[in-house]
Amino acid sequence: MPTYEYRCNACGFRFEAFQSIKEDPVKTCPTCGKNEVERLISAGAGLLFKGSGFYITDYRSDSYQREAKKEKEAPLPQIDTKKTADKKSETKAAKLSGTGTT
Ligand SMILES: [Zn+2]
Repeated sequence: MPTYEYRCNACGFRFEAFQSIKEDPVKTCPTCGKNEVERLISAGAGLLFKGSGFYITDYRSDSYQREAKKEKEAPLPQIDTKKTADKKSETKAAKLSGTGTT
């Protein structure tokens, strides 16, 4: 079951709720009792970028735990993005200085 994050606009209270997708979202604040509760989308969003075969809805399931463990044991090769970025800015700088001479 996915975890939803809620925030009460009346008192600012934040909480999480385990709910099925079919269930209605929480509307009433557990602390102040007002119907000012808003569902936040932020919960677990970063997990999308971990990618590869499992979905956000089962990120706390056993399969996710196994996948996460696997990744830790055998880390993926890292792409050196910093290097390519430096190269790009270098060529850009060279071009800029070249145009100023004539
Ligand atoms: Zn409240």
